[in-house]
Amino acid sequence: MTVTRFAPSPTGYLHIGGLRTALYSYLWAKQNGGKFLLRIEDTDLKRNSLEAAQAIEEAFKWTGLSHDGEIIYQSQRFDLYKEYVQELLKKGKAYYCYMSKEELDALREEQTAKKERPRYNGKYRDFEGIPPLGVEPVVRIKAPLSGEIIFEDGVKGRISFKAEDILDDFIIARSDGTPTYNFTVVIDDALMGITDVIRGDDHLSNTPKQIVLYEALGFKIPKFFHVPMINNPQGKKLSKRDGAMDVMEYKNMGYLSEALLNFLVRLGWSHGDQEIFSLKEMIEFFNPNDINASASSYNQQKLEWLNACYIKNSTSKRLWQEALNFGLDIREDKNAEVLADMLRERAKTIVQLVEMANAILKEPQNYEQKAVDKFVTKESILYLKEYLQLLHINKDLEFAGDYENITNEFLEKSGLKLKDIAQSIRIALVGSSVSPSIFEVMSVIGHNSVCTRIEKFLAGRQYG
Ligand code: GLU
Repeated sequence: MTVTRFAPSPTGYLHIGGLRTALYSYLWAKQNGGKFLLRIEDTDLKRNSLEAAQAIEEAFKWTGLSHDGEIIYQSQRFDLYKEYVQELLKKGKAYYCYMSKEELDALREEQTAKKERPRYNGKYRDFEGIPPLGVEPVVRIKAPLSGEIIFEDGVKGRISFKAEDILDDFIIARSDGTPTYNFTVVIDDALMGITDVIRGDDHLSNTPKQIVLYEALGFKIPKFFHVPMINNPQGKKLSKRDGAMDVMEYKNMGYLSEALLNFLVRLGWSHGDQEIFSLKEMIEFFNPNDINASASSYNQQKLEWLNACYIKNSTSKRLWQEALNFGLDIREDKNAEVLADMLRERAKTIVQLVEMANAILKEPQNYEQKAVDKFVTKESILYLKEYLQLLHINKDLEFAGDYENITNEFLEKSGLKLKDIAQSIRIALVGSSVSPSIFEVMSVIGHNSVCTRIEKFLAGRQYG
């Protein structure tokens, strides 16, 4: 069974690179009927916070990516890590090192002066004497001194590291007994039964160390997929300005989670030239072996385009619910879904949808001057007055079609064209010359508001 995991360190929010890794891991597990687990790597008690862990969980909830089983918190597993450190010590695969900080610093200085790579010199690797007093030892792994560490990466192909270039007997437990990063990752991945590790390629240099640990512990080595970074359009590291933001900021900007996931799945992976993927299709088609070996490029327009597509294809009910979640300042309206339906083609984000909905639902406080100058004339005011009278007489208008019929009647009688009055009506109703069909707007705001808005507009005009 395929078991994957997402293992964020809760030092801050969940950013889109992390979410993409999580998505890939999720899809791969689900495709294989396997499990997707979530592990919070919170051993660094100084840098991690509970709020950050909660923020990650909240972001997960929003995206709808659900993890299997309980969340594993590394901070609750210190005893377990200690047991494995002891086991390695017992088996002679790890050892106590009593080198003091001063000694280690001096060694490092000497190596740097000789232009050598700073590394531990193995002083206590085979030490059998009496340990020096007053030094709390660290525990180091006995790493291979020569040879190569080779593995087949599912994204990058065959990777080999020369042991002497990258390894020394690295520390697995600090002098206070706490385990180090690579050690906890290996213990947990092994005990959680992880078969496929999909993670950012910034972790590539940790992998040979982790392989050394897998071997020392006698654990099965999982398959690795190191996913290249997401760059900005200029090919540089993605900064906050380009989109390296908290996933929840995308929610706040009015993106739908499906659109964001669709955007992310395509950053670094493709399936023919298909652009739009339902989650079901992603699960069906995604394969981490097809992830691009080179970095992908963040493209904001693409995200907007996808979001607009998802908005267009969402049910009106869902759209209205999303709008309400944004604190659309309006009671639940019987015409709410009509309104959402009207705006779905125009809004690229839920924020825009809310703005447009508010512009229709709220009586305009002022009228866009440019539009007034362009469209409102002495004549159009006169027509509008006559039109208003007709509306007053016909109180039972309800649907867009009713307003359209009465307007056509009016145009016929007065020999006018729709363009002679449409913009004046629109400005009176919403304060600007842009809105969806005026008849639909009228049906949404209702007869009463239609009349009062036109009256209010006329009252402010000095013409005629
Ligand atoms: N905790 C690591 C991070 O947040 C991920 C570790 C891993 O995936 O192996 O970058």
